[in-house]
Amino acid sequence: MSDDCNDNCAAVHRCANASRRYRFPFGASEIPSNGVYILFEKGECGHGQDRIVRIGSHTGSDRLSSRLEEHFVIENKDRSIFRKNIGKAILNQRGDSFLKYWEKDLTSKENKEKYASQIDFEYQKCIEKQVSQYMRCNFSFCVIGTADKEENPLVLEKKLIATISLCSECRPSKDWLGRYSPEKKIVKSGLWQVHHLYKTEKTLSASDVRKFFSDYRAFTQHT
Ligand SMILES: [Zn+2]
Repeated sequence: MSDDCNDNCAAVHRCANASRRYRFPFGASEIPSNGVYILFEKGECGHGQDRIVRIGSHTGSDRLSSRLEEHFVIENKDRSIFRKNIGKAILNQRGDSFLKYWEKDLTSKENKEKYASQIDFEYQKCIEKQVSQYMRCNFSFCVIGTADKEENPLVLEKKLIATISLCSECRPSKDWLGRYSPEKKIVKSGLWQVHHLYKTEKTLSASDVRKFFSDYRAFTQHT
């Protein structure tokens, strides 16, 4: 299994690295309506190329670019677990006691009222800006547009995460920000994710990899 995952992970890296790369600011109209995004981070190498550090997709139809905006543009950690995790690592790295407040989900009215007197919202905004700056300067991504509405991008997302997490060849650099994450799964996997890791039964099959390559080529030619 490990050898297969290493080979498939290397193949995914080759394909993703050869594909059209997006950076902030990106135009929503340039991005396919549905699909999976693959993120790279400055300073991270894997399989002799840029290392994949996160895979993501979206729920709901035609929401891929909106999901990416929730990571890169909209400064609200409670709408993006990715932003929340970047902020947690930044705060933890410098031993900032605001970490315990950053972790709170303030989406519900109940929580907003509960923590209103405890949280310094100006400081929270300042952390949001630091997260945005880190993300915009350090992350780039490519996308795999899923072929049609019947194809659920979450299925491909899970397979990619399982495969990459089980690869023994791509590891984070010694300076990787994720090493400071309080989330043990992020530190251990070298990926900005905590779900769908190490699922041996959900990895990419040989035909998935072939399909991946052909779909990807189709998409990159299209753009
Ligand atoms: Zn790998």
